[in-house]
Formats: sequence, C-alpha cells, structure tokens
Amino acid sequence: MKAASVGLAAPFAFAQAPKITTTQLGDNLYLLGGAGANVIVRTGAEGVVMVDGGLAQNAGALAQAVAALPNSGLVRTLFNTHWHPEQTGSNERLGMAGATIIAQENTRLWLQQNITWPWNGQKFKKLSKVAQPNKTFYDKGALDSGIRYGYISDAAHTDGDLYVYLPQQNVLAVGDAACGQGWPVVDWWTGGWIGGIVGGLQRIQSIVNKDGNRDTKIVPAVGPVLSLADITAQVDMYGTIYDRLNQMLNKGRGPSEAVEAKPAKEFEAKMGNPDEFIRRSFESLWAYLSPDA
Ligand SMILES: [Zn+2]
Repeated sequence: MKAASVGLAAPFAFAQAPKITTTQLGDNLYLLGGAGANVIVRTGAEGVVMVDGGLAQNAGALAQAVAALPNSGLVRTLFNTHWHPEQTGSNERLGMAGATIIAQENTRLWLQQNITWPWNGQKFKKLSKVAQPNKTFYDKGALDSGIRYGYISDAAHTDGDLYVYLPQQNVLAVGDAACGQGWPVVDWWTGGWIGGIVGGLQRIQSIVNKDGNRDTKIVPAVGPVLSLADITAQVDMYGTIYDRLNQMLNKGRGPSEAVEAKPAKEFEAKMGNPDEFIRRSFESLWAYLSPDA
C-alpha cells in the first residue's frame, strides 16, 4: 500500500512543480527564475546564501534547483528583501533547517501579523515562528564573506525593503524596490508609495555610483537584470508621474480622476495599461501626504 501511494503522489507532485530556470550571473552566483520571483543564489565553500525564496508552493522545486547548482551545499543564509509571499515562501523550510533568515526589522513585524489589502481584500497569513526572520537590522550590515546589505528606507515598495550587494560578482539585489517588467505593485498598506519609488531608485543609483563600478548588475524581484541606465530612465519616468499626481492632489482631485487624466500616457506603449498602478499610487499619496491621514 505504501508503494502505491508513493507511486501516485510522485507524478502529481511532478505535474505541479514549476519549471525553475537558472542563469549564471558570475562566479558561484546564479539567478533562479520561475519560483514566483527572482531568487539569487551564491554557492561556495562558506555555504549557500540566498536572496529571496519564491512562493511557498514552489519551495520544494526551488530547493532541488539550488541543490543541483555547482558548489552547492547547505543554505546558511536567506535574505527577505521584504515581507511579500513571493519573497518569503522558503522561510519555513530553511528556518526549520537552521538557516539564518535576515530581514529589515519592519519586515519581521509584518510577517508576525495577518494582513488584508484594503483594495482587493487579499489576505496574507502571518508566518509561523520558525519561518520568521531570526536576524533583523535597522540600517545595514555585512556577512563575513563580504556581502553587504542595507535598508532602502524610502518605502519604495514596503517600509521594510532591503538591498543585498555581492561585491565579488558586482551584483546588487534590490527586490521590488525596482521593477524590471511592467508596472510595480504599490503596497501602501505596508508603507510603499509613489514618492518612495522615486526615492528608492535614486538610492539604488547612489549605491551603484558610490561603489565606483557603473557596470553593476541590478537584479529586481520581477523581470530581467537591469543596468544603471535602466534605473536612471525609471527615475525620470516615475518622477514625471509623481509630479503629475502631486499636482492633481493639490487641486483636490481623487484617484478616479487621476486615472482618467492619463498621467502615464507617453509610457503606456512600453509599460502596458497603467490604471491599477495610477490608482494605487494616488491612494499612496493620500496615505502619505494628506493632513488627516
Ligand atoms: Zn513585493
């Protein structure tokens, strides 16, 4: 009977498994796609370091793909770039295996409570204790291997965004503080706002420039690897949209009027329908700037 149930379970699990893609970014460094968000994996003798963990339903397939990488081994460190499920789905598995899970303190606070987004009713359950980040910070930190990380305090996407910089391969992971494909989610319920998108992108520019190497590969949570030129173009675009929305707010307009005014008109051909993004962005201005908020 046991053999039969295993025989049934395996093909089912196989059919459900996502296809995890692997792209090499540098020595011992890989970008894994298909788990729900981009995942960065640094392999080597010091143990595996991961930036983000995909969705929980893909955690098993992702773990298999990580184990199959050259010079792979035990995952010792997992970064959560923010609290969203696309980033924290491997937390339970790796937390139970004893990994250090690093997050900005605000991310840990969000993961300790149930959350409901007011605009669509989507619910997120808090994580179990073992799945919660077990090493948090406020400003910045570094690993013994030279990997540096820090807070993106502008609230680009949430109020707990972090970056991870891998100097050896010159790769900067920025989670959803930059978006590589389409319009970003503006999660103003947990702190993100349109002004923070601009501020976060400017911070990414300054991190890259400060390091003196303008060829840094910037890896967002969604979409392809970005260059500094891509980030600069995004600063211009989101800055323009931010200014227009601000002007409409000052004239007493509301979110629906903002959408109708088409403040992202010249970017639509490249970026797609902006209505949802504009509505959330305008609401985020209310959340941040209204005197009675
Ligand atoms: Zn996100």
